[in-house]
Amino acid sequence: MLTNADIGELLWAAGRDEPGHRGRALERASRAARFWPEEAHQLVDGGRSLTELRAVGPWVAAKIHGWLDDPPPVPEPEETRSGFLTYAEVRRTLNADPRWEADPCGDLQVHTTFSDGSQPLPDMVEEARSRGRSYVAITDHSQTLTIANGMTSDELADEGEVIDAIDRRFEEDGDPFRVLRSIEVDVFADGTLDMDDASLAGLDLVLGAFHSKLRSTADETERYVAALRQPRLHILAHPKARMYGRRVGLVADWRRVFAEAARLGKALELDATVWRQDLNVEMAGLARAEGVRWFSIGSDAHSASELEFLSFGMATAALARIPRERILNYRPIEFVRSWAQAMPATLHDRS
Ligand SMILES: [Zn+2]
Repeated sequence: MLTNADIGELLWAAGRDEPGHRGRALERASRAARFWPEEAHQLVDGGRSLTELRAVGPWVAAKIHGWLDDPPPVPEPEETRSGFLTYAEVRRTLNADPRWEADPCGDLQVHTTFSDGSQPLPDMVEEARSRGRSYVAITDHSQTLTIANGMTSDELADEGEVIDAIDRRFEEDGDPFRVLRSIEVDVFADGTLDMDDASLAGLDLVLGAFHSKLRSTADETERYVAALRQPRLHILAHPKARMYGRRVGLVADWRRVFAEAARLGKALELDATVWRQDLNVEMAGLARAEGVRWFSIGSDAHSASELEFLSFGMATAALARIPRERILNYRPIEFVRSWAQAMPATLHDRS
């Protein structure tokens, strides 16, 4: 039976062979297939119309019907499109164990107009709160990432004041929701961080991520080890730095990288953005098996609607059999704060 992932590949291949607006419609449907909440074959079995699905008009629906009736061989997806969950898989996984969505859960990567997000910080906080998150970490970019409008240390301090004012208001209102002062600091190729130590020391939580030299095909194990050994870094965000359809991400000896994260007590992120899913199920399972103690899930939302991506990270964790106790998001906010604070602030304490 063809899955939505299969149908997405068939649509993509068909789109490549079709010129003009029909090709674009197929390509659009191929991307939309990743968000369809149910398998197309289930809709058909239930006597419903495929045009219920996003980006499926009558002409595309007829094509999909043809494939479901007489399945053609599905092309093997190229590496940049392999190892991504569809939303139908996410729903199936989370519906099988509703506690993933029912248990209190924070969101540990969110962007605002302080860097490249499209909505102001107070709006993103309110949107996360109204979606039932128990807290949110605001993680805007640091200055070297100019394409993402990264922050200077002064801007980071300004952002901290906005957050403190919001948290004071929640406290006065008796609302338990809180905002963590955080950052997605750029990690340079030598492992050093794009922000001064004093600024990082004032934050609740420091996510670090690679954003440069991401097309390197060399072994980058040392780059990861150097990053993890940065005393101020708590969470390695979107570790592989892959992007759906665009790049496979960095290459490393993952067992060594994960063993180092385990030794240092650092967390690895399951970036839940549909086009990232980084770590993916396979790598997250390997990290768990290598003894990585802590994981975090971030929607990596740059707009309110993207806060919904968090479920892709939950499903990744569930399929990688990572227990919720090992996922920071499912811990109370006080725990997350003290977990980060307890991390040795110098290299020498642990090495
Ligand atoms: Zn990033």
